[in-house]
Amino acid sequence: MLLQRIFRAVIMGPPGSGKGTVSGRIVKSFGLMHLSSGDLLRANIKAKTELGLLMKSCIDQGQLVPDDVISRLILTEMRNIDQSSWLLDGFPRTVSQAESLDNVYSVDTVINLDVPYQTIKQRLTSRWLHLPSGRVYNIDFNPPKIAGLDDVTGEPLIQRHDDTPETVTRRLKAYENQTQPVLEYYRCRRKPEPYKLSKKRNVLSLLTAFIFSKLKYLHMLYEHNM
Ligand code: ATP
Ligand code: MG
Repeated sequence: MLLQRIFRAVIMGPPGSGKGTVSGRIVKSFGLMHLSSGDLLRANIKAKTELGLLMKSCIDQGQLVPDDVISRLILTEMRNIDQSSWLLDGFPRTVSQAESLDNVYSVDTVINLDVPYQTIKQRLTSRWLHLPSGRVYNIDFNPPKIAGLDDVTGEPLIQRHDDTPETVTRRLKAYENQTQPVLEYYRCRRKPEPYKLSKKRNVLSLLTAFIFSKLKYLHMLYEHNM
């Protein structure tokens, strides 16, 4: 039986750094499932769910929603996609969220989009969104084919309530204080690269691999005889 390895990635970066746009391209090229915490929250607000209504003022003010609420929401949603490879966008955004994720899944890769704040502020005021799909456009450098309409469905685009200059400043502060430590968290728990192993450890691992291959061979012979 051919076992396919599941690949789990997280994309990070300040608000407006292009996580949604870049994620769209990555999932298309590599066939991953995409889960965006912001899209999920906005879908809840649009559907007027109890959670959506409770979280709306938090989001409109540029604050993060409480860790336990978002962790429960995302981890529940992830059960639908955990048989596939996935890319998480917008979660985790605090160290506590990263720990909740670590308790259930081990993340293979963290992508960080490093964009200067001045660029972000300019970008966000010209950003337009197709709410049902999360597709993002920018009238300066990634415009829709027809102004104000989504390329795929032809439905109207909207501007986000939290893309005003004052709210963007608050979101950047939240990013600095709460999300940047998550990058440090992932940097610290990075597994050692094979090439960084000492010569002694390399010899040891080669020896272990050799012994295991012999054991496997004996096991195969044994099974064959049965
Ligand atoms: P962009 O989508 O441009 O990258 P962003 O990262 O600020 O910008 P979203 O990810 O769409 O925006 O999130 C919008 C808002 O939803 C956030 O400002 C925050 O209030 C809330 N939110 C989303 N994800 C989380 C999270 N993991 N923890 C807490 N709040 C969140
Ligand atoms: Mg986003």
